[in-house]
Amino acid sequence: MPADVVADRAADGPVVDLRSDTLTRPTEAMRRAMAGAEVGDDVYGEDPTVRRLEERVAELLGHEAALFCPTGSMANVLALRTVVGVGQEVLCEAQAHVARAELGAHGAYTGLTMRTWSHPTGGVDLDAVASMFAPDLGPFFVRTTAIAVENTHNFAGGTVVPLADIEALTAFARANGVGVHLDGARIFNAHVATGVPLATYGGLVDVAAVCLSKGLGAPVGSLVVGSADAITESRVWRKRMGGGMRQVGVLAAAGLHALDHHVERLADDHAHARLLAEAWGVDPAGVATNIVVRDVPDAPAHVAAAREAGVLVSAVGARTVRLVTHLDVTRADAERAARVLATL
Ligand SMILES: *Cc1c(COP(=O)(O)O)cnc(C)c1O
Repeated sequence: MPADVVADRAADGPVVDLRSDTLTRPTEAMRRAMAGAEVGDDVYGEDPTVRRLEERVAELLGHEAALFCPTGSMANVLALRTVVGVGQEVLCEAQAHVARAELGAHGAYTGLTMRTWSHPTGGVDLDAVASMFAPDLGPFFVRTTAIAVENTHNFAGGTVVPLADIEALTAFARANGVGVHLDGARIFNAHVATGVPLATYGGLVDVAAVCLSKGLGAPVGSLVVGSADAITESRVWRKRMGGGMRQVGVLAAAGLHALDHHVERLADDHAHARLLAEAWGVDPAGVATNIVVRDVPDAPAHVAAAREAGVLVSAVGARTVRLVTHLDVTRADAERAARVLATL
């Protein structure tokens, strides 16, 4: 957390940092796993720890292959470009991370365009998709070649997209010959919240991106999963984008450790988020995982007031604030932050 905030708060105890689940620091046990990792040059395909991680994540999601990437944004870019070409479009929800928070990477690198539907909890509006859908309306219209879904949905507040809605979307896409991409940065949260197997989520899409550096607590790392062909192509594009990494088994080891030790505990983050929601005036029944969003009259002012009281949250819109629970937030931290948020 920012040093000035730490200094400010030194007198009243440490700050609780709820800005993002990317803020976690590797645990001692994770650092030991990293230090002991067997490594090789991964651009030569010779890092055994990376290979183990890629095989494990592919199998968990029920796909043929996976590719280790430095970030979820790169994983989304690589994944989407396997189903959408230059000058073609993907349909997605209006608050999707791929549309809002990847700084135009998909347009800049792939040359694709996006059209969006809006859904109050970031879910699927199949009616809207069906009416926007334009796989071949002649040479005047951008061709739709894929549909993307985000699960859990970040800016909608960690909402889980109902399985039946994804099934219906996939049935529609398959009947019409277009691809489906899953931005599964927090698919492990969805899995823990619902009990739906990861392979069930994975089996409904052509390609997906998953993150180890969010609630799972790894310092770095995301993967693209898909068919062997999609991953072979993504490996070439990852190198082209400057993302070929060498003895990166030290990071893959953190990911493997996270998969062994930090999946089931996501349930604690979800319980902490409900506790915080209640204190913050948000109905905990609407909090499915580790994110709470709340509308306020002035988001930067709310963030500043919370910070003053020792709790860091973030503005994700002019009138929307967000808090995120994670591995480095204990029950005691959550209770302390709840007492602060209740006073705002
Ligand atoms: C965090 C996140 C990503 C990837 O972010 P990086 O910071 O690039 O790793 C992708 N999608 C969603 C929904 C996210 O929350």
